[in-house]
Amino acid sequence: VKTEIEIGQVFVDRCLGELHAGTLDPAVAAMAKYWTTEMMGRVLDTCLQLHGGYGYTWDFPIARAFADARVHRIYGGSNEIMRELIARTL
Ligand SMILES: Cc1cc2nc3c(=O)[nH]c(=O)nc-3n(C[C@H](O)[C@H](O)[C@H](O)COP(=O)(O)OP(=O)(O)OC[C@H]3O[C@@H](n4cnc5c(N)ncnc54)[C@H](O)[C@@H]3O)c2cc1C
Repeated sequence: VKTEIEIGQVFVDRCLGELHAGTLDPAVAAMAKYWTTEMMGRVLDTCLQLHGGYGYTWDFPIARAFADARVHRIYGGSNEIMRELIARTL
């Protein structure tokens, strides 16, 4: 989990640098949105699992974080559309 977060941070930092330089490629931006939000889902799933059944109840903040994370794969351009943008450059 920590490794994935570190990798995601490096990639997003690179994208931010390119964005500020005006060189960010749309397909690379799509990769960042797609991969980091999928990774977010994996990380929160692991974190919820760590809490066991309590993690599934609203009494614990991890349940809120898990539910809130889900929408990131849908909005801002769904991840299926991100994959389509990436695939067009292959
Ligand atoms: C909380 C929230 C806030 C939002 N805020 C904004 C906002 O501020 N501004 C704004 O403009 N929009 C906003 N949206 C809308 C959001 O961008 C859309 O929900 C998103 O683009 C997906 O469109 P849709 O919901 O109509 O799903 P649909 O387009 O109906 O897609 C349904 C499913 O089919 C998949 N799909 C669709 N087309 C294809 C395809 N060609 N190939 C493969 N799979 C496909 C999608 O990936 C999705 O999984 C918001 C949505 C939510 C939930």
